[in-house]
Amino acid sequence: MNFIPFLSAPDYTHTQAWVEALQAAMPQENIVAFESLSESAKATCNIAIVANPDPAQLQQLPALEWVHSVWAGVERLVADFSLTELKVVRLVDPHLAHTMAEAVLTWVLYLHREIPAYARQQAEKKWQARPYVKAQQRTVSLLGLGALGEAAAHSLLQAGFTVCAWSHSAKSMSGVTCFSGKNALPQMLAKTDILVCLLPLTPLTRGLIDRQFLAQLPKGASIINFARGAIVNDADLLRALDQGHLSHAVLDVFTAEPLAGSAWQWQHPQVTVLPHCSAPTDRSTASLIVAENIQRFRKSGDLPQTVDLQRGY
Ligand code: NAP
Repeated sequence: MNFIPFLSAPDYTHTQAWVEALQAAMPQENIVAFESLSESAKATCNIAIVANPDPAQLQQLPALEWVHSVWAGVERLVADFSLTELKVVRLVDPHLAHTMAEAVLTWVLYLHREIPAYARQQAEKKWQARPYVKAQQRTVSLLGLGALGEAAAHSLLQAGFTVCAWSHSAKSMSGVTCFSGKNALPQMLAKTDILVCLLPLTPLTRGLIDRQFLAQLPKGASIINFARGAIVNDADLLRALDQGHLSHAVLDVFTAEPLAGSAWQWQHPQVTVLPHCSAPTDRSTASLIVAENIQRFRKSGDLPQTVDLQRGY
């Protein structure tokens, strides 16, 4: 009998819920928590499903060919496996993309309709309508035009915004002004009112949003980071906010999570802190996608696109 183990961090509280959801999505397989595998069963597993696994546990599976992550961001797996032959499949779920697109639209509208400024006015009991700016007069730029960036671009276009996007390779998307590569970035930043980060965390994107990057945004621009905290240099972000160069930052992700009580972001009047909630994985839709990928592999040996461990995403 073949088993597919589910591996997670020791303190993860949803392992059993994942095992049950994955088992229901693929009744022909035997999904088990790694901890319940016998030594002889460990020797036969060629697939594992993972959520922040302990690499030492994965090393106990000698027949392992590939792992399916139930998360869209896989920077920790990449860091652990970049020197191995193991193939990594990450979660690409249209439902997750829809959830992220909804979050992007929500927080872009929050900035577009100047809700932080109206909240400050209310605190001062100040009755003053601010000049109305049409959506098409605001340029929203997406860093990353992948599974999540593309869905976000669609919802921003539908809401009437002027949309730009930046990716690694050249891309085209109807209605979106596309930029690619480091050399094209200044051109996009110079016209951006609201910047939304949907990049993976890789060696090239770590610390990308630093002092020099932020200086290329027009004065008064805002940023939204829904990707990974370490893409932003926090000290440079604080400086840009304090100097009035940036008007607001909506931050859902941080270098260390949960955000420490002493972190400056909690108190800063121009920062909105969110607890990494912009697009949570939905266990039911994710389990169906993982099941489909595993079934296809069982039938044909084909895998969905795997993570490029050198490139980091
Ligand atoms: P994806 O499909 O892999 O797309 C990544 C995009 O970033 C691609 O367009 C890629 O360019 C671009 N990119 C990567 N490195 C680049 C570089 N050095 N320069 C320019 N562009 C670069 O990833 P996704 O599914 O959209 O997810 C993006 C990230 O969102 C994940 O990695 C994860 O960290 C984060 N996330 C956050 C949450 C949350 O709740 N906050 C939830 C899910 C995911 P190419 O198209 O040319 O390859």
